[in-house]
Amino acid sequence: MEVITEINEMRARVLSAKDRKRSIGLVPTMGVLHDGHISLIRSARKENDEVVVSIYLNPTQFDNNDDFDKYPRQLNKDIDVIRKENADVVFAPCTEEMYPEGFCTNVTDDRLSDTMCGRVRPGHFNGVSTIVTKLFNIIQPDLAYFGQKDYQQSAIIKRLVTDMNMEIDIRVCPTVREEDGLALSSRNGRLSPEERQDALCIHGSLLKAREMFASNIRDAKEIIGEMTSVIKDAEYTKIDYISIVNADTLEDLSLINGKALAAVAVWIGNTRLIDNTILE
Ligand code: AMP
Repeated sequence: MEVITEINEMRARVLSAKDRKRSIGLVPTMGVLHDGHISLIRSARKENDEVVVSIYLNPTQFDNNDDFDKYPRQLNKDIDVIRKENADVVFAPCTEEMYPEGFCTNVTDDRLSDTMCGRVRPGHFNGVSTIVTKLFNIIQPDLAYFGQKDYQQSAIIKRLVTDMNMEIDIRVCPTVREEDGLALSSRNGRLSPEERQDALCIHGSLLKAREMFASNIRDAKEIIGEMTSVIKDAEYTKIDYISIVNADTLEDLSLINGKALAAVAVWIGNTRLIDNTILE
């Protein structure tokens, strides 16, 4: 497995793969890999000749410097994990490579980032769309893999490749969870034992939404009300948002009348966690 840190070298590797008609699968990550990331790498391994895993902690998608500073980093350990998964390349560029002096172009969307995380994290999805566009341009994958845990992100990326005529298939892989239901996240390691226990209310609130939906309740306000109670019952929580939206357009719904998404973002102490479930 090669570890590449320079864009020119990555491009040369891509050219050589393309010359040999080898398909490329890309798994973009910010590092501190867990079983969620690994599931994406395994899916990529099954479907592509070459698997590239990028590790880049993208500063422009952090709306909060403290969150960026506190975000965990463990490059060498991540490289070992990826090697065990038989990937071909780790692309781990530095910020001077990705945002050289004079950088001033951003990719933004006009609609999908208006709700949910986009509403409470200004600029976040511009950062995501910009870095993903750069990675797509450098690596030119045939397929790229994202997790359902970041549902809004994958919806925005799907729209981005359609709108910008990029010939890349976007695969959205299921959320991997701990046995007790907590979605795996690189941020979970920051939780104290008490907060870790409290964090279960996130999955609990989604189960509540599913249960109500299964018993034919379609009023979004009513479901959100019950989800709110589940989260408020936990001690260290502060709700950032609870939304029920159209699963395609991400527009807020008052009445569920098609495929919908229940999504939550909750502060557990100083750690913000997100999760979601499809209602259909
Ligand atoms: P991140 O390193 O947090 O930017 O995540 C990189 C990719 O892994 C994104 O596409 C995430 O949606 C995905 N991912 C993160 N957590 C999980 C999880 N628990 N299950 C599946 N995919 C995940």
